[in-house]
Amino acid sequence: MLRSAPHALPAARNPVADLEGRDPRDVLKAVFGHAAFRGQQQAVVERLVAGGDAVVLFPTGEGKSVCYQVPALCRRGTAVVVSPLIALMRDQVEALRQAGVAAAALNSGMADEERDAVRRDLMNGRLKLLYVTPERVTTPGFRQALSRVDVSLFAIDEAHCVSAWGHDFRPEYRELASLADDFPKVPRIALTATADPATQADIVERLRLEGAPVFKTSFDRPNIRYEIVERDNARRQLLDFLARHEGADGIVYCLSRRKVEETAAFLNKEGIRALPYHAGMPSEDRSANQDAFLKSAGGLVLCATTAFGMGIDKPDVRFVAHLDLPGSVEAYYQETGRAGRDREPAEAWMAYGMQDVVQRRRMIDEGQAGEEIKRVERSKLDALLGICETTACRRAAILHHFGERHAGACGNCDSCLNPVETYDGTDVAIKLLAAVYRTGERFGAGHVIDVLTGKRTDKVERFGHHEMPVFGVGSDLDARAWQSVLRQVTAAGLIRVDNDAFGALRLEEEPARAVFRKERAVTLRQDRPRKSGSGGRSGRGRDRDRKGPGGSVAGLDETEFGLFEALRKVRLQLAREQNVPPYVVFHDSTLRAMAEAHPRSMTALSRIPGVGEAKLERYGEAFLEVLEAAD
Ligand code: ADP
Ligand code: ZN
Repeated sequence: MLRSAPHALPAARNPVADLEGRDPRDVLKAVFGHAAFRGQQQAVVERLVAGGDAVVLFPTGEGKSVCYQVPALCRRGTAVVVSPLIALMRDQVEALRQAGVAAAALNSGMADEERDAVRRDLMNGRLKLLYVTPERVTTPGFRQALSRVDVSLFAIDEAHCVSAWGHDFRPEYRELASLADDFPKVPRIALTATADPATQADIVERLRLEGAPVFKTSFDRPNIRYEIVERDNARRQLLDFLARHEGADGIVYCLSRRKVEETAAFLNKEGIRALPYHAGMPSEDRSANQDAFLKSAGGLVLCATTAFGMGIDKPDVRFVAHLDLPGSVEAYYQETGRAGRDREPAEAWMAYGMQDVVQRRRMIDEGQAGEEIKRVERSKLDALLGICETTACRRAAILHHFGERHAGACGNCDSCLNPVETYDGTDVAIKLLAAVYRTGERFGAGHVIDVLTGKRTDKVERFGHHEMPVFGVGSDLDARAWQSVLRQVTAAGLIRVDNDAFGALRLEEEPARAVFRKERAVTLRQDRPRKSGSGGRSGRGRDRDRKGPGGSVAGLDETEFGLFEALRKVRLQLAREQNVPPYVVFHDSTLRAMAEAHPRSMTALSRIPGVGEAKLERYGEAFLEVLEAAD
């Protein structure tokens, strides 16, 4: 499963020793090819270089790795990076080696000889960065080995795993607190991209980082466009969405393995190249599909359960689509956050319906967790539902969940681009609440809506509900519209779905009473008339101004675009030769900068963002050749 061979990468020169004590900015340029630090990176780097601890809360794509990789190169010794997933390590180590850095990983998937070789390098001080799993860090053997080497710093990546509040809780992370005692002089840095206020507090406490400054930038991902639509014909809606992303790579998330398989098969039949990924597949197939996706340079859809994703560093994922509701806002944000790491335009799209809510509630109810955790999970689900049903700016609602203020009107979500009209729906809500109440809070959505719309089903007659005053009071709206009202009223916390009673609707007493008394108003969405067959609030199927691999080429003129394509070709060839993903060679943004600036010498090429010394040496000529041929 692992590409274990150290990729025959010529360990060109060993730049390690040269960089110790150098100015971090020089290291950033020489090794990573970046001209300047971004945002708070410099503050974090300086803090670590000086031997201090830090907590870093940056959104995906902000550049967390630089925060510990640059200090690792500037300080003496080996940096130990704790990372929860082998795939993640593999990518990071690969990228570092490409940049000429002595990096390695130690994990259980490696062959004995390879592990021994890494150990030897570690003991001999030949590594600048060593990636390990949290399990390994806590073994006595590894601890002992560490006590005999010069550790420059500890970096704890995906630090939210330490918290039971986070959605990726890993008990082994708790053991990492002991690093504070065992290595009191070694600086520690914890990093994550997902942390609501409770998780943030947990990270500081559980990892014993009380004294460390917290570096935080906005969690906003302005390049991601959010859209959440009501599901009516999921497949049709998905095809419409994918039509906006022809030639791009993206992920389609489904809840079940079966749905993953079916969706992939369906897309292939429709002429869209798609591969499945879920935990039930043979592991060789799964990693082959993951690999194909990572290495794809456009035009591949990966249909996956959420088993896929953590540690996916592919920068050019142009869209993430959800065909089912995730379990929490955190999960939604992390999954959608896999789009657009390169900061180019990307889209997060979700189609959801009331059944999702019922299904999610059932998963929680039937889960193994204790009552307290279940309560947390239920409130997390409700928070997500609130975001799905909001008529205001989605981005503002999401950021608010993470404890951040946002003025709204972001201009890059469906609510902002295509505002929803609202109306005072207090009377409408009262009809629904009354129907639930009068029928005894024992029935599910379908039956209650039958009663409201005056549909005389067998069940309605059996219970005598056709003789009630509420029968037919809502016949001015159709069943669809009532479904929507129900979702909104549920999201507003007036009704809950009780899975212990087969999805029976129940009133939330206090708030429902306030509505009955008209002490509380209910604002509802004016559902827009829909085209038959296609649904939701989208209406933006026409903006197909982007072509090819999404936003990466936006703004290039025709000549530049031709050059960009030629550069991509060499990149693909170089990547294939080494069996690595193309973005490990150069990111799209680097190729785009080359196409625009059209450098004609090695010196000019070295000024392009993303071109460090090692890559210039290794790839410079191949790319110059293309650039010169274009003259
Ligand atoms: P994160 O882990 O926060 O999601 P990464 O460390 O993967 O982010 O970095 C995201 C992208 O930003 C990478 O392509 C990286 O090369 C780029 N990047 C990081 N720091 C800088 C910088 N100072 N200038 C330009 N690009 C940067
Ligand atoms: Zn908005």
